[in-house]
Amino acid sequence: MRKKIVAGNWKMNTTPAEGVELIKAVADLKKDVCPEVELIVAPPYTHLCCITEIAAKAGISVGSQNCAAEPAGAYTGEVSAKMISSLGVKYVILGHSERREYYGETSETLNAKLIQAYANGLTPIYCVGEKLDERESGKYFDVIRKQIEEVVFNLSSDQVSSLIIAYEPVWAIGTGKTATSDQAQEIHEFIRSVLNEKFGDLSQQVPILYGGSCNPSNAEEIFSKKDVDGGLIGGAALKAPDFISIAQKFPK
Ligand code: PEP
Repeated sequence: MRKKIVAGNWKMNTTPAEGVELIKAVADLKKDVCPEVELIVAPPYTHLCCITEIAAKAGISVGSQNCAAEPAGAYTGEVSAKMISSLGVKYVILGHSERREYYGETSETLNAKLIQAYANGLTPIYCVGEKLDERESGKYFDVIRKQIEEVVFNLSSDQVSSLIIAYEPVWAIGTGKTATSDQAQEIHEFIRSVLNEKFGDLSQQVPILYGGSCNPSNAEEIFSKKDVDGGLIGGAALKAPDFISIAQKFPK
């Protein structure tokens, strides 16, 4: 049985005070979510200090949205995996399409970041996904295979046994246009088959989350698919009732 996970990526939204209100609201509603579902929130760095304790008391895990590729030193503006981990943060989102697109993150950068994450006890939520033109030209399988092979294939089996992957078609992120549940299942199954080529049966243990305009109205259909183990949620994670409602949409 794979873990069921709903993770909220708050992106660059909310002040720390607003973030505290949001995590308190999520914590208040958490009782309505089945205990087998792990809830993760990934606020901006500035919020981590004031959120981790409230989250921990409520049984909610915390992730950061990024970490540095280097361990320490003269890297103005960067935040190391060690700093993040020392706050009680458990996860780190890496390879999000916004980081790949706006900050030029390549497989090389991501390999370095994953090394830092694992070395400091952070579990990566590694994001993959194709752009609209790559979907329309039918190249999406190649794109996703490359994103997996160039990064995940460099990990040890031990590291992969704690990895989480998020499939986020770029054309569905923040657009209100969701992949159909069949499109999500097709790619999740494909990701698992690529993992199987290198890691064998371990591929069955890796949770694969869907991300891209997931909301309380479409989550049930998407989560009904056998290789979809939950969601990485952007916009809808900023409203506690919506985030919690999504977490209630797993098949009984
Ligand atoms: C995301 O960026 O990780 C995401 C899934 O965003 P949204 O839910 O807003 O599409």
